[in-house]
Amino acid sequence: MSAVIIDGKAFAGKVRGKVAAHVARLIKDHGITPGLAVVLVGEDPASEVYVKSKGKMTVEVGMTSIEHKLPAETTEADLLALIASLNADPKIHGILVQLPLPSHLNSELVINAIDPAKDVDGFHISNVGLLGTGQKSMVPCTPLGCLMMLRDHYGSLSGLNAVVVGRSNIVGKPMAQLLLGDSCTVTIAHSRTKDLAAVCRGADILVAAVGRPEMITGAYVKPGATVIDVGINRIERDGKTKLVGDAEFASCAAVAGAITPVPGGVGPMTIACLLANTVTACCRANGLPEPEGLTA
Ligand code: NAP
Repeated sequence: MSAVIIDGKAFAGKVRGKVAAHVARLIKDHGITPGLAVVLVGEDPASEVYVKSKGKMTVEVGMTSIEHKLPAETTEADLLALIASLNADPKIHGILVQLPLPSHLNSELVINAIDPAKDVDGFHISNVGLLGTGQKSMVPCTPLGCLMMLRDHYGSLSGLNAVVVGRSNIVGKPMAQLLLGDSCTVTIAHSRTKDLAAVCRGADILVAAVGRPEMITGAYVKPGATVIDVGINRIERDGKTKLVGDAEFASCAAVAGAITPVPGGVGPMTIACLLANTVTACCRANGLPEPEGLTA
C-alpha cells in the first residue's frame, strides 16, 4: 500500500473542537447558545442510531439539542405544524428532519417547509439553488466534509480534474458543485456513463458515491490520485457483518496517493459538518461573523 490515509475521524474531532470553541465564544460574549432540533418520524433502527449520535455530539460541543420523536403514523399536517413552530422558535438555529420519512409523507414538501436559514442539511430547494449559483448557502453535510478534507490535503484544488461517481441530490450533485466552486474541472459519472473506469482514471480527485460495495477498484484509479470514499455499505463476509465503502480499499490504496478509509473517513465528517452548519446558521441569524473554515 502506498496511499496516505486521510483520517476522517481525527479531522472530524478537530472540526468539532473548532465548533465547540466558537459555541463557547457565542455563549460568553453574546449569551447565545446555538440550538439544533432533530425530527425523527417512525422507528427505523438505523435512523434512531444516527439521531442519538447527533444529539450526543450536539451536547458535547455545548449546543442545545432538541429531539422530536414522532410516531410512524404522524400526519403531514402535524409534521408541518411542528416544523412551523421550530421555524418560529428563536432558540432553534438548525432543523434536521431525519430521512427517509415513512412513505405516506412527502419528503420534498416537508424539507421545503423548513426555513432555508435553519436548513442545516442543505436540502431545501433555496439552498440547492444558492449553491448552484455560487452564493452563500447551507451546504449538505457529507459533501461539505469531503471538501474540507480535500482542501486540507491539497491546499488549493484549482485546476485539478475531479470525477464524482454518483448524481444523487444529497451527495453527488452538491459534491460536484462544491468542487466546481473550488475551480476543479468536474465530471459527474453515473450508471449510464460509458467506460466508467477510463473516465475515473482521468481524475486527480475521485469521489465514489454509488452505494455499491467496493465497486471502484484500483483499475479505476490514476496513480497518485486522491480517492474519497463516501460509501457506507454493510455486507456479510466470512459469516460476519462488515462495513465497506464504495471503493475497494486495498486495490485503490495500492494505486492512489491518498484515500479515505471506511469506516473512519467521510462518515465521521458528516455529523461534524452538521454541527458546523448549526453554528454557522446561528451566527448568520444573529448578524455575527461566521467561524472560519467551517463552511464552503
Ligand atoms: P443513491 O441516491 O443511491 O445514488 C447512487 C448514485 O450512484 C446514482 O446517481 C447512480 O446512478 C450511481 N450508480 C449506481 N450504480 C452505478 C454504477 N454501476 N456505475 C456508475 N454509477 C452508478 O446514493 P447516495 O445517497 O448518493 O449515497 C451514495 C453512497 O454514499 C451510499 O453508499 C451511501 O450509503 C453513502 N452515504 C454516506 C454518507 C456518509 O455520511 N458518509 C452520507 C450519505 C450517503 P443513476 O443516477 O444513473 O442511477
